[in-house]
Amino acid sequence: VHELSLAYNVVEIVIGALPKDRAFRVRSVRLRVGSLAAVVPEALNFAYDVATEGTALEGSTLQVAVVPAAIHCPRCDRVVELPNAHLFCCPICDTPCADIRQGQELEVESFELEEDGEAPPGGQA
Ligand SMILES: [Zn+2]
Repeated sequence: VHELSLAYNVVEIVIGALPKDRAFRVRSVRLRVGSLAAVVPEALNFAYDVATEGTALEGSTLQVAVVPAAIHCPRCDRVVELPNAHLFCCPICDTPCADIRQGQELEVESFELEEDGEAPPGGQA
C-alpha cells in the first residue's frame, strides 16, 4: 500500500532526525506532498496512525502541504504551475509538455518536538 509505506518512511526519517541525547516526543509532522504523488489524504492519515504506533511519533498530528504541479514550458521558457494536474499542457500557450519540475514531492518539511515528561535521571532541562 502506497500510503502505508510512505507513512513508515516518514516515521523513519523523523526518528532518524531526532536528537539522540534526550527523550523527545513528536507533536506534529509537516509533509510536502506533490499533487502528482497520488496520495489519498484519508488513507495517509490512517496509515500514519498505524505507522506511528509505539514510536516517538505516536499521537502526533500529521499536516500535509500540497505542492501544486508545475512544468517547464519550452515555448514560454519558464516554469508554470498546472491548474489541472492531469492535463500536461502549458496553461499559457497550450503546448503539451511533460517536463515536470514540481508536484512529485513526498518529503518531510518540518516537525515539532516536545521533551518527554520523563527526563533521564540527573538531566537538566
Ligand atoms: Zn507555454
